[in-house]
Amino acid sequence: MESLIRKNIQQLIAYKVDAPQFEIIVNANESPYDFPMQLKRKFCDDICNTDLNRYPEACFPELIEAITDYTGVPGEGIICGSGSDELIAMINQAFVDPGDVVVSHSPSFSMYDIWATIANARHMMVPDLPGHLPDVEGMIAAACQNQAKLLYICNPNNPTGYIFSRTDIIKILDTVPSLVILDEAYIEFFGESGVDLLEKYPRLLVLRTLSKAFGLAGIRCGYALGNKEIIDILYKVKGPYNLNVLTQKLAVIALKNRDAILRNLEILKAERQKAMRVLETFPGLTLYPSGANFIYFETERAEAIYQALLKRNILIKRFIETDATPGSIRFSMGKPQENQKILDIIKEVVYNEA
Ligand SMILES: *Cc1c(COP(=O)(O)O)cnc(C)c1O
Repeated sequence: MESLIRKNIQQLIAYKVDAPQFEIIVNANESPYDFPMQLKRKFCDDICNTDLNRYPEACFPELIEAITDYTGVPGEGIICGSGSDELIAMINQAFVDPGDVVVSHSPSFSMYDIWATIANARHMMVPDLPGHLPDVEGMIAAACQNQAKLLYICNPNNPTGYIFSRTDIIKILDTVPSLVILDEAYIEFFGESGVDLLEKYPRLLVLRTLSKAFGLAGIRCGYALGNKEIIDILYKVKGPYNLNVLTQKLAVIALKNRDAILRNLEILKAERQKAMRVLETFPGLTLYPSGANFIYFETERAEAIYQALLKRNILIKRFIETDATPGSIRFSMGKPQENQKILDIIKEVVYNEA
């Protein structure tokens, strides 16, 4: 079988993980708040009146209309995917030939690398400058010197939480020859979108998702905003019925009722601020400012913190120490009581040298 597989797929490790079963889950930047029961009921009613024996809408017109209402982008500039993961795959399929260069900053979202690897691209992950500042000049140089096809800007960034300034985003757009993908998975937590730049920059594509602020990671719905020309190219590689009818219905309900759902943003942002202030008082942590719903910090005690939380049935994300990088923790904001419990356990670990 080995000889039949494409070479770049041989080394890949399949993403086969069980959904975590823990009392508290703060490892994946999901919302701790489930979709409101009243809206779940509305969804059930909608489904009872839907013919499930028919294929879904291939181009999701109702959903596109709801996204236009939310973002202000006209329908011809919108395409949806089964999570923004699928959109990243589609972008690679449409734009990247084997050997082409893709540029991103590092550390960032792992799916950029996975899809670049599958496309057999040369992925240049430009490491952050000391203190986790994105190396904007380095990214521009990498893209210009190698005629990069794609350049990713993850804003706010996962996992470090940092923000690219608008000046830096514009500088990148003004100089690189690439399709610039502005991944705004966490933008609702930060508030300052780059969507208005689409008017001036035809090579910009903005990625969004319902998985984070909307609390709908379970339904797999992401969307891309861009100029008609790019969106039309992505439609060429889109699977015929990539969004099932259940996802389409629920996503429309979510967007139409966004005021009620996005009220949780204020709680989560306040929690982030509160947790940040507590963590700042702990010894041995290097904290980074965050524009998202999580906090990233480096510490020699990352593994100890991870294990202490596991023992208490709590799952957090830790990045294992390497030669080049210290161990670190990414703590997604949970509900207030959950965060308090986690902070108490981290406190125990950092004050206990044993
Ligand atoms: C979570 C996340 C996404 C969203 O992925 P989905 O496939 O839409 O769930 C996209 N980009 C980044 C940086 C993320 O952290």
